[in-house]
Amino acid sequence: MRCPFCGAHDTKVVDSRLFDEGDQVRRRRKCVVCEERFTTYERAELNLPRIVKRDGTRVPFDPDKLRSGMMRALEKRPVGTAEIEAALSRIRRTLMSCGESEVDSMRLGDLVMDELRGLDQVAYVRFASVYRKFEDVAAFRAEIERLEREPVGATVTADDDDGDTD
Ligand SMILES: [Zn+2]
Repeated sequence: MRCPFCGAHDTKVVDSRLFDEGDQVRRRRKCVVCEERFTTYERAELNLPRIVKRDGTRVPFDPDKLRSGMMRALEKRPVGTAEIEAALSRIRRTLMSCGESEVDSMRLGDLVMDELRGLDQVAYVRFASVYRKFEDVAAFRAEIERLEREPVGATVTADDDDGDTD
């Protein structure tokens, strides 16, 4: 990297060591032109991106909101907390490692749907119906039929007691 003293493009790393319990690398550099020394710190860029909503507004990623959204879809379904937490941390990891500062809410929704599909088909359909706002009954039915064609053990049946008649 460029020397901050003379602006030369060529600097040499003379020492490199872990710092901050291994979360950072501290490098001593020496300019090959003016021979000044300086230090740089390197750390992984793991900030969670902001979420871009449909109307264009940006909001910080909210893990609690994500959890409660998934919990709502999984209400009264036979899925354990540990499985849900594992799915949540996979989503978080995907967001952190994408390296982007902003992520479309549609993409986040797709990540959630992928996870729910693997956890529980009923929860997946519940979430998809709210999230995708199926315009009509035909679109919703097409999604159900697509699910039923997929070679997965669980199928969507009429036993979906989603609470609206309870
Ligand atoms: Zn220099």
